[in-house]
Amino acid sequence: MDTDTIAAISTPTGEGAIAIVRLSGDDAVSRANELFQGKDLTTVDSHTMHYGKLLDPETGEIAEEVMASVMRAPKTFTREDIVEINCHGGLVSVNRVLEIVLAQGARLAEPGEFTKRAFLNGRIDLSQAEAVMDLIRAKTDRAMNVALKQMDGRLSGLIQNLRQKLLETLAQVEVNIDYPEYDDVEEMTNDIMQEKTAEVRDEIENLLQTAKQGKILREGLATAIIGRPNVGKSSLMNTLVHENKAIVTEVPGTTRDVIEEYVNVRGVPLRLVDTAGIRETEDIVERIGVERSRQVLTEADLILLVLNYGDELTEEDVKLFEAARDMNMIVLLNKTDLEQNIDIERVKELAGDNPVISTSLIQEEGIDQLENAISSTFFEGEIDSGDMTYVSNVRHVQLLKQSKQALEDAREGMEMGVPIDVVQIDVTRTWELLGEIVGDTVGESLIDELFSQFCLGK
Ligand code: GDP
Ligand code: ZN
Repeated sequence: MDTDTIAAISTPTGEGAIAIVRLSGDDAVSRANELFQGKDLTTVDSHTMHYGKLLDPETGEIAEEVMASVMRAPKTFTREDIVEINCHGGLVSVNRVLEIVLAQGARLAEPGEFTKRAFLNGRIDLSQAEAVMDLIRAKTDRAMNVALKQMDGRLSGLIQNLRQKLLETLAQVEVNIDYPEYDDVEEMTNDIMQEKTAEVRDEIENLLQTAKQGKILREGLATAIIGRPNVGKSSLMNTLVHENKAIVTEVPGTTRDVIEEYVNVRGVPLRLVDTAGIRETEDIVERIGVERSRQVLTEADLILLVLNYGDELTEEDVKLFEAARDMNMIVLLNKTDLEQNIDIERVKELAGDNPVISTSLIQEEGIDQLENAISSTFFEGEIDSGDMTYVSNVRHVQLLKQSKQALEDAREGMEMGVPIDVVQIDVTRTWELLGEIVGDTVGESLIDELFSQFCLGK
């Protein structure tokens, strides 16, 4: 295993009064010590911080005033020796420190390499490592809580319990087969297998039920604002952005041509889709044509359809209702400050089960009701106890679905009277699939792939 000393800036660039360059590896302390003028870092107690000066190894001159924290293995994030060099927060200063550390011989860490080492050294499991990544990208407090719980091992705990249950069942079956005490051992074994696999299946199903919400917390509720020109789409967009904290994100792979804006509505991250279109041309339907806008619509988790309270319904309004049929939709009757010309009964008819909210964006009325409607779309009437374990990771969802399928195959087999040792194969497979979530049974390439998605310095 690689235990060469790696280094990276581990605080966000350009923010805060101090910045940290972190070193991790077998010779992290001795390397830092060679550059450090102050106490002998190789002899200080673990988990202590020391003031000193950093020397430029090329010129021998003092380059920076720093505080160095020394943390010795194994009680560190990577389970290796770690030195964190705290310096002034400016970009110049922290880059200078990193340059010096690299010039001295440490290697620049790859994205996610610290976390990868924590995983490889058994400090955290894979789902916890993935939570570190989610935490970095979390868009709202709620999303952050989900990531924190996962990092804490909540999901891992649940998964390991299920695996344990399967393992015990397999063991029991094995014992029954090897040492049949009773005549009806076959029937008994089948019963145990039926019961336990059904239990595990149900628990997997419960976890999968949280996946939709988990995905939304992670990626945002893809929201499309549609409506005829001039009904108030841009105003709605601006209201949502200004009333709520806009979320700054750095999601890799976000394409430039589709500008997305994130806002936090009561802990639910809304991803306002194709807002560029709305802004530039004032009319998404006109600009991209009905076909393309249909596609935008089908990719959305939520449609906000804006109508003009002061106008009669038009053919185009009805078309938009049709385009958004079968989707999660909230209908806005905007401009209630104007004299009513819209046929509300007809709107309600067209809206079906979807909520219809009256707003006057110009007078800032109805916005609370709109936000209530948005957050109940997300929670679908459930009360959020704030204590849920959500599955939010696509990889986990895939593995859970496969696990569920394997258990259903097992059950089908049992019902058809397939011999128990064949059923065991499906159950063992489930155990392995669940193991991939926590990283017990994953290959090296997957590990590399996963960790390469991290930010530098984590
Ligand atoms: P869009 O074309 O759908 O994006 O509509 P805009 O948001 O650009 O709004 C069109 C016009 O309607 C602007 O002049 C807004 O100020 C105005 N407007 C937006 N909301 C209201 C409202 O609640 N009441 C009134 N009276 N005017 C509004
Ligand atoms: Zn507009």
